[in-house]
Amino acid sequence: MLREAGDIPEEADVVVLGAGIAGHCAAISAAEAGAQVLFLEKSSQPGGSSAMAGGGFVFAETEPQKAAGSTYTKQQLHEDLLTSGQRKNNPALVDLFVDNQQACFDFLRAHGVKFDLTPGGIMYITGTGRAITSLHMAARANPNIQFFTKSAATRLQRAPNGGRVEGAHVYFGDREVFVRARGGVVLATGGFSRSNELLQAFAPELVSALKHGGIANTGDGLMMATDLGAGLADLGYVTGSFGGAIRDYPNTVQRSDEVPPLLFSFLVGGIMVNKQGRRFTDEGRSYKKLSTVGMEQTEGIGFQIFDQKLMDQSNDDTSVNNYKEAMVGGYIKKAQTISELAALMGIDGEVLSASVARYNADVANGVDTEFGRTTALMPIDTAPYYIAATTNALTSTYGGVTVNGALTAVDWLGEPIEGLFAAGEVLGGFHGGGYYSATSLSSSSTFGMCAGRLAAKAPALLKEAVLG
Ligand SMILES: Cc1cc2nc3c(=O)[nH]c(=O)nc-3n(C[C@H](O)[C@H](O)[C@H](O)COP(=O)(O)OP(=O)(O)OC[C@H]3O[C@@H](n4cnc5c(N)ncnc54)[C@H](O)[C@@H]3O)c2cc1C
Repeated sequence: MLREAGDIPEEADVVVLGAGIAGHCAAISAAEAGAQVLFLEKSSQPGGSSAMAGGGFVFAETEPQKAAGSTYTKQQLHEDLLTSGQRKNNPALVDLFVDNQQACFDFLRAHGVKFDLTPGGIMYITGTGRAITSLHMAARANPNIQFFTKSAATRLQRAPNGGRVEGAHVYFGDREVFVRARGGVVLATGGFSRSNELLQAFAPELVSALKHGGIANTGDGLMMATDLGAGLADLGYVTGSFGGAIRDYPNTVQRSDEVPPLLFSFLVGGIMVNKQGRRFTDEGRSYKKLSTVGMEQTEGIGFQIFDQKLMDQSNDDTSVNNYKEAMVGGYIKKAQTISELAALMGIDGEVLSASVARYNADVANGVDTEFGRTTALMPIDTAPYYIAATTNALTSTYGGVTVNGALTAVDWLGEPIEGLFAAGEVLGGFHGGGYYSATSLSSSSTFGMCAGRLAAKAPALLKEAVLG
């Protein structure tokens, strides 16, 4: 429906751009701090990548973890982030996250998000889409928040001579409107996995990857912020995630509107083989690390193989383990024997059978003699068997706008761009030179919560200045 410009408030204390998990946490926290919030989403639905995510969140020293006897400490979380980021992370952001993540866990729970702690005591799971649904209900119930879809910010406006960011130009229906932000604009527009233009600039090897992630995640926030001089961080480390499923292999053409499933059967008991029918790696490694070795295989394809035991664990709460849905979609094939499975994908049946037999023998002996895999060692011995052709998928970009420890964007010289906050995948510097699995949802929500509170303080400060 076309909206009249007058329907949209053209001024608010805080304007939040993007309705993924970072934007929701920013909008809610700003509203709860007393700000009038205008919350804008480019596409017709809220959620972005956050609504597609597997739902894994890493936290440390939260109450349920302590109650369950988890020994995972804040100090260890801090160290794990720096290690996975090759110590190229912005330390102020790692500190900010570690110091505020317990409060964010409580904040999320207070707004209806339900977490299950996984057996290792480090990661929580919410299930796909659940956190966003709860947060969206909380946002819609808050009288201080006005939410609009189909409202894409196109440009930010700064006061002359490098002054504060005054607001954003937003495209509503058939017109562009300037929305003034008295306190600040929170950029929460996500990554750029859907922009071939930005991929060509920052990660050209990924232009041909299967595209995943929020359908409208074209890096708008990154472009708007750099237009004002914001710096960039971590963009040299954009990587794919190995496991993007190919429908009806050997057809490899992705429809432009297709969101192929990301399958991680190999992390919970399946194996991966190449076109020659041979295993090529320790499948228990991070799917980010598998990205490099996977792309070195013929056609850049790894075939995930598992049996009925794993199919029986198909979980419609978690997209990456929802094998039944992937089968209905034509992404997984089934056969009664391993050699029949091989024939479906044009793999040599004898070689594949030998690979599976060797793996099963290794599992029985408790030692993976080929690649030293130590996790989810499970025999593939219960018919029927399943196979999925998978390749590199680009779900997330994890690099972008530089910010200081108060989540204010900074330019290349380190000068703050006052009034412009960033949170979530649009922000650069937190992950550094690598990615610690399941820390994007927890950091995006923590930084969103902090950015909303910080932005909400700004109008009060301005009012004081005027009065004083
Ligand atoms: C399949 C998949 C599985 C994943 N699993 C996990 C996991 O288990 N754990 C984990 O930690 N991370 C996971 N991730 C990564 C994680 O989901 C994202 O990094 C995180 O959700 C980013 O949150 P965000 O709020 O910054 O961005 P998003 O959730 O992508 O939200 C950004 C929003 O901004 C909107 N937008 C864009 N441009 C504009 C504009 N110009 N104006 C207004 N709105 C705009 C978009 O439409 C979108 O709704 C996964 C990602 C995918 C795709």
